[in-house]
Amino acid sequence: MTTLLGIPAWVVALAVGGLALLVVWLLVTRRQLGTLAALACPRCGATYGRGAAVAARQGHTAAVRSFRAWHPGSRVDPQGEWIVACPACAATARFNVASGKVNGESA
Ligand SMILES: [Zn+2]
Repeated sequence: MTTLLGIPAWVVALAVGGLALLVVWLLVTRRQLGTLAALACPRCGATYGRGAAVAARQGHTAAVRSFRAWHPGSRVDPQGEWIVACPACAATARFNVASGKVNGESA
């Protein structure tokens, strides 16, 4: 079965599916960053802002990458939380991506 341009249907399906996944991923990431940026530091009450949110996500991505380097083929997320540093008081907290809440660091 082929389409009008002679491209196999499975290639089209794969491309459309990949594009849809990319769009969903971008939207989810944007929403997570927006959620964290609007949250307040549990210690001093200052709003984190976009810069701290982006840094927290980058730190999380790096942590996942180093985990995968030591555990090849693993699909387990080592930490479902992002470590976020307050730009005002420098206190670190854990941002739970699933619940969209920030928990103060115990240490
Ligand atoms: Zn703070």
